[in-house]
Amino acid sequence: METKPVSDIDDSLRSLVESMIETMYEAPGVGLAANQIGVPRRVAVFDAHDELGPRVMVNPEIVETEGEVEFEEGCLSVPGHYWEIARPAFARVRALDLEGNQVEYAGDGLLGRVLQHEIDHLNGLLLLDAMPKRLRKKALKELRDEGLGLA
Ligand code: ZN
Repeated sequence: METKPVSDIDDSLRSLVESMIETMYEAPGVGLAANQIGVPRRVAVFDAHDELGPRVMVNPEIVETEGEVEFEEGCLSVPGHYWEIARPAFARVRALDLEGNQVEYAGDGLLGRVLQHEIDHLNGLLLLDAMPKRLRKKALKELRDEGLGLA
């Protein structure tokens, strides 16, 4: 499911974000994109396990990446599965917050990873799309064996 940019930052968006944060913590997970819960809007929440707590990105775009690192990555859409996936080590993202102000999130480690993972979701890409062919084959088999399908 692809997403459409958010045009109005209003109460309905704010209550969507509130329930997304709840869903993320209940899962539990470190990030959630709106289209994972069936809402095709360009908004995601994340908590990179730092002192800043839950954060929101509205209409996010990656503006810079650097390096490459393998990182054990999972997804709330395929619970319980983790794969070593190579991505840029560092990412810088420009987005809007819930007041409509432009904000930037940048970092490596878990933060860099979750930013890229959630923006992939908003672009209609799954974790499987970020895998090299051989790993994707293995992952698909794992998911099939569990009857999870393509998630
Ligand atoms: Zn995910």
